[in-house]
Amino acid sequence: MTSNEQSSTTPNNFLKTIIDEDLKSGKHSSVVTRFPPEPNGYLHIGHAKSICINFGLARDFGGRCHLRFDDTNPAKEEQEYIDSIKDSVRWLGFDWGEHLHYASDNFEQLFQWAIFLIHKGKAYVEDLNVEQIRAYRGTLTEPGTESPFRSRSIEENLDLFNRMRSGEFPDGTRVLRAKIDMASPNISLRDPVLYRILHTPHPHVGDAWKIYPMYDFAHGQTDAIEGITHSICTLEFESHKPLYEWFLDNLPVPARPRQYEFARLNLTYTVMSKRKLQELVQLGIVSGWDDPRLPTLVGIKRRGYTPGAVRNFCEQIGVGRSDSWIDVSLLEECVRAELNESAPRAMAVLRPVKFIIDNYPVDQAEELHAPNHPQKPEMGGRIIQFTREIWIDADDFMEVPSKGFYRLSVGGEVKLRFGYIIKCTGVIMNEQGAVMELHGEYDPASREGIHTADGRKVKGVIHWVSAHNAVTAEVRLFDRLFNVPNPDKGGIDYKEYLNPLSVVSIPAQLEASLASSDSETRYQFERMGYFRQDPKDSLPGKLVFNRIVTLRDVWSTNK
Ligand code: ATP
Ligand code: MG
Repeated sequence: MTSNEQSSTTPNNFLKTIIDEDLKSGKHSSVVTRFPPEPNGYLHIGHAKSICINFGLARDFGGRCHLRFDDTNPAKEEQEYIDSIKDSVRWLGFDWGEHLHYASDNFEQLFQWAIFLIHKGKAYVEDLNVEQIRAYRGTLTEPGTESPFRSRSIEENLDLFNRMRSGEFPDGTRVLRAKIDMASPNISLRDPVLYRILHTPHPHVGDAWKIYPMYDFAHGQTDAIEGITHSICTLEFESHKPLYEWFLDNLPVPARPRQYEFARLNLTYTVMSKRKLQELVQLGIVSGWDDPRLPTLVGIKRRGYTPGAVRNFCEQIGVGRSDSWIDVSLLEECVRAELNESAPRAMAVLRPVKFIIDNYPVDQAEELHAPNHPQKPEMGGRIIQFTREIWIDADDFMEVPSKGFYRLSVGGEVKLRFGYIIKCTGVIMNEQGAVMELHGEYDPASREGIHTADGRKVKGVIHWVSAHNAVTAEVRLFDRLFNVPNPDKGGIDYKEYLNPLSVVSIPAQLEASLASSDSETRYQFERMGYFRQDPKDSLPGKLVFNRIVTLRDVWSTNK
């Protein structure tokens, strides 16, 4: 499924208004956007927002969206990230068609443009080191100081820059800078660095280069080369916009893209900075980039979130220009909304306690019919077995029932979902007082409905599975990785806020039909939430299920 058209058009937003006007006025005849990740990590849910905006606008206006790797820093970039980014964009349901691009494809052109600036007296080779450059730059309130190397001749600059390219100088000894204005109130315009020396091979262009352009020198020009009409980025680039335009004004670029900024996505109960995600992986706090508790797209995918739910979430949060926090429960709600419609139901007992029906024959097994979806008969049904020994959930029994508890206690009655009414007649406990086994009887007249043979109505309905053919599985109950809404707020190390119960692994008893489930199918385990097999760890005969999301938002009600 790689169509950009499978989702409806997005609601109106300021970017749509701008594009609409540009198309009406004839400024552009079609819209071209791009999603420009740097391949230095895995994509996360924040990137999904940018992907949905860029590919969504192209879809809505009948234009196109490029996937562009902004690969100007080989020290941090790897093929592994390139591959994973492509997978994640495709997984979200978007297709760049022919338009897979790399900023590094333009390295020769960018180099020629740097030479062009030198010829015009608008760039120079700097010998000051990083600390000196920083010290000369000035502050927000004080202008910078001009470097003594700023007045080098064009010839000397050309010579040095060419020698930088040929690898003559060690890393960090020189840079090429634009000659703009050291007194500019915008620090980005105080002679920004254009090129640095880096004797590091590049994942896409190999070891052809010993100097690499800075992001700012590559980005806008690459937009121009690709014919991007609307270059959409997050707000932190707003102060770089005058520089973006300075390059377009001062270079013979083939087109004139324009930059627009939107507010990045901030999500509660998680962290999204690449550095922090990397740290969590490296310290082994999570199992890898695809740990189902992470906000990475590989993590979300492995957990069982659907691309449709993520796209729907991105539509609901909208596109604005003011920074805001989005509650992760909105994302969870989008997942529930989709799975409630699409997930077949099944029964699984997560905290199994054996219930023995003393008045049921030992070797009898009865077939009961269970529909796969309560509102969708077209989804069919399945056969479940009713036997003398069944598993029920420990939470469905209370030795001393509290007020309003309509499930089992000794003497209590309950309806088994799709099965009979059972009555509990005895409990066997160990020395510590833990329930080991329950005994009871079934009411043969109660297979249909919720009335006992003598006409009494039973209030509680519980899920269960036959102990004769249940399958044992490991179930991983995922919860939020942090136990505060903003672990990133500073002051204290974000790792202090890790939720120690963010994953709890339990042995569960599943209905027999789940033995042949596949990892693509997401189920609703009745009363328990949405689950699916872990695509990495689950094996036939050794099933592992992930909890994708609970049935209800337990965080806003309990905590
Ligand atoms: P860094 O630049 O620190 O490596 P980044 O998260 O900005 O990290 P990029 O690869 O530069 O990563 O991001 C690609 C695109 O995704 C950029 O256009 C960026 O603005 C956008 N993006 C990144 N994070 C978010 C976010 N939280 N919300 C929306 N868009 C985002
Ligand atoms: Mg970035």
